[in-house]
Amino acid sequence: MSNPPVAVVTGASSGIGAATARALAAAGFHVVLGARRVDRCAEIAAEIGGTAVRLDVTDAESVAAFAAAVPRCRLLVNNAGGAKGLEPVVDADEDDWRWMFETNVIGTLRMTKALLPALIASGDGHIVTVTSIAAMEAYDNGAGYTGAKHAQAMLHRTLRGELLGQPVRLTEIAPGMVETDFSLVRFDGDQEKADNVYRGITPLTAEDVADVVAFAATRPSHVNLDQIVLKPRAQATAMRAFRES
Ligand code: NAP
Repeated sequence: MSNPPVAVVTGASSGIGAATARALAAAGFHVVLGARRVDRCAEIAAEIGGTAVRLDVTDAESVAAFAAAVPRCRLLVNNAGGAKGLEPVVDADEDDWRWMFETNVIGTLRMTKALLPALIASGDGHIVTVTSIAAMEAYDNGAGYTGAKHAQAMLHRTLRGELLGQPVRLTEIAPGMVETDFSLVRFDGDQEKADNVYRGITPLTAEDVADVVAFAATRPSHVNLDQIVLKPRAQATAMRAFRES
């Protein structure tokens, strides 16, 4: 295909971002994959005919350099993010909170500001933000993450109104439990704790979420899927799931 539409996926080195890069390439996009582990992005880019560019969404210079490397952009998937720690508020670690707000919230803000001109110029732009069910509810020991995801979601939902009249769609994807490196990162590499999160349950896969992103991105341009919540069948809320013993 000549001049395929360009999609940027942040946090494309693993999990949902990597699967989304693959799904969007299969849907006909040229995908630009960004993350700090650019070697992993490069491997996926080679597989799908995309481009890998190093990106640290917490670093303004890195975001500016990334945006300069992407002159054309029709779709931005704000996916980079995650959680650190699972403690009651009274024991909250300020560095973990800073990491979560810098990555999920300010990172999404920076990327959106940097690529919005190109998205508008495309004449058919689309911003997909991967928030979470943590952006819909509060759960015990999760205030740092739920707070950051709520703030990220507010940024995204505010744009839905602010960009009325512009050729830009906005889709929020809010997954429940997805088995990726998410819990390994949250628990600082503790594999046993990470495995326990998915004990007795069939969680979503990164590919399940990627399918939904690709579906939203391939609707006709007058169709805006505003918000999509997807969870494993066995999960009702962040706090309530059915586990096989
Ligand atoms: P993951 O496998 O840990 O992926 C996280 C991605 O974010 C990695 O590619 C990581 O890449 C990237 N990232 C982290 N910090 C970054 C930074 N400063 N700059 C650029 N990229 C950065 O976890 P995941 O589950 O796929 O998470 C993807 C998104 O889904 C996150 O926003 C997460 O909050 C959300 N989510 C996950 C779940 C779940 O249960 N897994 C549920 C709901 C929502 P590098 O480390 O290479 O930079």
